[in-house]
Amino acid sequence: MKGSEILRIAARWVPGATLRPFGRPVALFFHGVVPQITDARIEINHHTADAFRAIVMRLKRGFNVLPLNALDDVLKRPERHTRTVFLMADDGYANTLEVAAPILEELHLPWTLFVSTENIETGDWNPLILARLFLYFAPDGSYSVPHFQQIIDLGGADQRGTIAQSFLQGLKHLPADEAREVVSAMKCAFPAGKLDRLSCQFASERYLTWSEVEALHRRGVEIGAHAHWHWPLNEFQTLNYLREQARSARQAIASRLGSCRYFAYPFGNLGDVSTNAVHAVRDAGYTHAFTTFSGTLRSSLDPWRLPRYALRPEEPNLDSVLPMLRLADRRVARLSVNIPATC
Ligand SMILES: [Zn+2]
Repeated sequence: MKGSEILRIAARWVPGATLRPFGRPVALFFHGVVPQITDARIEINHHTADAFRAIVMRLKRGFNVLPLNALDDVLKRPERHTRTVFLMADDGYANTLEVAAPILEELHLPWTLFVSTENIETGDWNPLILARLFLYFAPDGSYSVPHFQQIIDLGGADQRGTIAQSFLQGLKHLPADEAREVVSAMKCAFPAGKLDRLSCQFASERYLTWSEVEALHRRGVEIGAHAHWHWPLNEFQTLNYLREQARSARQAIASRLGSCRYFAYPFGNLGDVSTNAVHAVRDAGYTHAFTTFSGTLRSSLDPWRLPRYALRPEEPNLDSVLPMLRLADRRVARLSVNIPATC
């Protein structure tokens, strides 16, 4: 069981009021928000609107949700910010404009959106969501996929579910150029018109366009970078690839919106972020970058490896969960290496 799961279970038994003095500033993130989930195998990244509203109303009532430009001060004096929360959304799903933004505006809550700029430009599927569509919706048959030694046999629902986990994990370990070949092969597995029909069926997976990103920015949303292509910046990627991903995403956002200070690593967990990626993000000019390790924000951390807590589909014990994130700080400290700012 993951540490964050243990923490959530423990939080059921400890009243939030008891933990209140132990709170520290935290960063929280979600992906998308949809009226309802129609297929949990594909729509893994989204909250329902009702659950999202319950979460952010809890934040509104019990915490201080601050804009990300307060981060420098919060990191310097975390003990003064025991109830401070930074709220973020990753990827750049169109439903953040259509569903999440109106709820957050109604409650006057500031938030930051991290976009993968190539996906915004092209509208291409998130590669791992496309992989899920392939695994669950490609016609029955045996498929030879580039860079995978084993034939992928797709048949009944149970068999597809069994294959999914190992296939998706293996895919994330490919260099980006090889992963793009797999994406092309998976698209070819669908009969003509099928992917278009799936696009309609899963409109939840549509990305924002640039004009929609700009509209959110005009409405006060901070826009950060989530790499150029939504792919892990892990040890399997070349140094040139990592540098280009960090540089081009920042350039694309800054050229449209004037600046881009913040970065969030795609996937962002152990095995998804290499030391070279952290260096590439730092050298590209971002002032801060966020992982998906759970923990609290404090000045001793590497500013390009800050922790964030992933909001679960439902969070009935948020008052207890957030102060308890301090229990994960020792792990974050082990994973965080201080990097001199000028090396
Ligand atoms: Zn992402």
